[in-house]
Amino acid sequence: MKRPAPLRIADLLVDPSVFADTRGERCRLEECKGACCRNGVFLDARLRDTILARADEICGHLPATRHDPAEWFDDERMMHADFPSGEGVATAVLTDPDDSTLDTCVFRRPDGLCALQRTDPALKPIDCYTYPILRSEGELTVDRWSKDELDGADCQRACTPPRPILEVFEDEFVRILGRDGYARLVAAARGGSPAGSDQSSS
Ligand code: SF4
Repeated sequence: MKRPAPLRIADLLVDPSVFADTRGERCRLEECKGACCRNGVFLDARLRDTILARADEICGHLPATRHDPAEWFDDERMMHADFPSGEGVATAVLTDPDDSTLDTCVFRRPDGLCALQRTDPALKPIDCYTYPILRSEGELTVDRWSKDELDGADCQRACTPPRPILEVFEDEFVRILGRDGYARLVAAARGGSPAGSDQSSS
């Protein structure tokens, strides 16, 4: 796809990286075992409160060694408008009991599934749903760093021909931008400037 001029959609400045190709198809959980969850995630402080209020339910989806809610979040905070409450809270990261050379988010289960999502899909942080598409500090971009930080774990399988990130991660873009916003993004990638688009040269 042709790379368009910088533009802004839904208050997000679109980074040109989203118009690139992937290294292949999206991951398969049975292969990666949720590798993108190894470093944990920052989530909104209000969601943390909801998670703690439903701890009993969540414990039913976690190994017995992780049933203490006091150990689910660490002290790291991120005060930023990216979070609806203005405060981001980090999930705890543990040494993976199945591989002591790797870490894991406290909510990532041995089968690679997220205990929050298994309890109630509404409990899973939005940034976990949209990964590797990132909505950060007013920018829409794609993660380009975790592959190196996660010992080669990747959300894109390099064994298949590259395809546009816009195609492979359509669902993730739609979750962030909505269907109309995604259509604008695709039109921009094709060099169009559809009516209603909010283009900016900033
Ligand atoms: S909260 Fe769930 S989806 Fe998000 S990083 Fe942790 S285990 Fe993965």
